[in-house]
Amino acid sequence: MLVFKTQKTLKDFINKAKSTGKQIGFVPTMGALHNGHLSLIKASLEANDISLCSIFVNPTQFNDSNDLKNYPQPLEKDLALLESLGCQAVFTPDMDEIYPKEDLVIPNYDLGILDTILEAAHRPGHFQGVAHIMTLLLNLVEPHHLYMGQKDFQQCMVIKHLLKQMDSDTHFNMMPILREDDGLAMSSRNQRLNEFERAKAGLLYQVLVSIKAKQGMQDFSIIQKENIELLEHKGLKVDYLSLVDAETLETYDNFKEDRPLAVVIAAHLGNVRLIDNILL
Ligand code: AMP
Repeated sequence: MLVFKTQKTLKDFINKAKSTGKQIGFVPTMGALHNGHLSLIKASLEANDISLCSIFVNPTQFNDSNDLKNYPQPLEKDLALLESLGCQAVFTPDMDEIYPKEDLVIPNYDLGILDTILEAAHRPGHFQGVAHIMTLLLNLVEPHHLYMGQKDFQQCMVIKHLLKQMDSDTHFNMMPILREDDGLAMSSRNQRLNEFERAKAGLLYQVLVSIKAKQGMQDFSIIQKENIELLEHKGLKVDYLSLVDAETLETYDNFKEDRPLAVVIAAHLGNVRLIDNILL
């Protein structure tokens, strides 16, 4: 497996691969890889000649400095996992390769309402940081296929929006959410849950499944109120539990038959913020 630390060496490799007709699949990550990440790599390996995974904990997308400080970074373990899958290339730049002289002031990206609603309302600046690193990576790699997880549903929409603005030919693949046995969506942050928090964390998914089952049988506002109360009673602090349009992310007060819908949720459990969603 080739490990690149600089944009220049990665670009040379990509250019050479493309000049010989190789198809490139790209999986951007922040490392601390789990089976969810690995499912994206596997999908890329199946469909492309060369799969590239990037591992970079991007500081500008963290609105909470404690979250950044506590973000796990087991790089050697991650590299061993990628190697064992047969991933051909990894990009693990150091901080100053991406942000020279620690200059963390980034341009403003036009993300429309995606930059003000749901996750954006609770994590100011988050999607600006995501847009910045993804613009850099997409311009660098210009992959044939990009693989990202439905777990970060709003992020998927932000990246689709960026690709459109860039007039990119990259094919966007939104991959299903991998879950633990109790339904908890796999996440690098889950390892920061203590034993008691972990025992409650599956509730998020149980709530989503029960809402999906009640679709159309009751007003969403009633279901929403009941489930927020249930979660808060169990000690979770809910940022939002919303019914949204699965294509535009517009929030709806009630179920609609003529639109693709999703339910999205974000809640704090102890010091960990969890997000999840389900397509209806
Ligand atoms: P991250 O390292 O958290 O930036 O995640 C890298 C990619 O893995 C993103 O596209 C995520 O949406 C995706 N991902 C994270 N968790 C999961 C999961 N449980 N199942 C599938 N994909 C995931």
